[in-house]
Amino acid sequence: TGGLLAGKRGLIMGLANDKSIAWGIARACAEQGAELAFSYQGEAFRKRVEPLIAPLGDCPLFDVDVTDMASMDAMFAELGRVWGRLDFVVHAIAYSDKNELRDRYVETSRDNFLKSLDISCYSFTAVCQRAEKLMTEGGSLVTLTYYGAEKVMPHYNVMGVAKAALEASVKYLAEDLGKQAIRVNAISAGPIKTLAASGIGDFRYIMKWNELNSPLRRNVTQEEVGKSALYLVSDLGSGVTGECLHVDAGYHVVGMKAVDAPDI
Ligand code: NAD
Repeated sequence: TGGLLAGKRGLIMGLANDKSIAWGIARACAEQGAELAFSYQGEAFRKRVEPLIAPLGDCPLFDVDVTDMASMDAMFAELGRVWGRLDFVVHAIAYSDKNELRDRYVETSRDNFLKSLDISCYSFTAVCQRAEKLMTEGGSLVTLTYYGAEKVMPHYNVMGVAKAALEASVKYLAEDLGKQAIRVNAISAGPIKTLAASGIGDFRYIMKWNELNSPLRRNVTQEEVGKSALYLVSDLGSGVTGECLHVDAGYHVVGMKAVDAPDI
């Protein structure tokens, strides 16, 4: 098969259902000839994930909880055994107790702070640590972040703090792994209706606000995040590392929208 990712092997982590950003990325990569493996979390998701990926052929599939280093080690050991080499990884995983994404950030509990940072930030470092050993011919690692890392967004709270740490870690990881021709980047996606997003208070309002205020005057799709991820994991992005690529219809550049404002 031809395509930008012909002969490349990639692991996609964080597939929950057909709305997952991971699925948008997986489709874009599969269309370009990549051979894919997937991870999901928990038996409950297996029955949704299996039929979803069935049309892609016989993809290695792993039940991995990223707080459980033994399950991570087992996955990478198995990938090493069946594939030997890994070319790219997409990390589309985040978590916070949704009860702490409603009111004030200042109320965040220590337990939820540690758990959110562990799952949403440290897990990417843990993935890079393990993937590095299989990326013997260079590689590309991509994680997903959100504008709430840069600016205060309503209800994003501890996730904003976790994403800020994740974005900083992308820069350190890019430096550490660059000498081995391994690139590390983040995509800062605009709001998209997914399972994880449903935990954020007033998410519909945030989507509407983005639609009205972004330069493109609309929201982005899972497919668009997929295409940008394809750029980063393929040779098209060969000169790009340590970057945070905004796929948000331009929302992040707007300080204040020019409207037909009445005279002030
Ligand atoms: P999703 O619910 O489809 O995906 C989140 C995934 O995280 C799920 O597959 C879930 O199983 C996994 N996960 C949570 N805890 C885990 C754990 N302990 N171990 C392993 N996996 C775990 O939602 P999504 O919106 O596609 O989220 C993917 C990524 O995109 C997240 O990092 C999210 O913060 C980011 N993101 C989402 C949006 C949005 O608006 N949807 C915007 C910007 C960034």
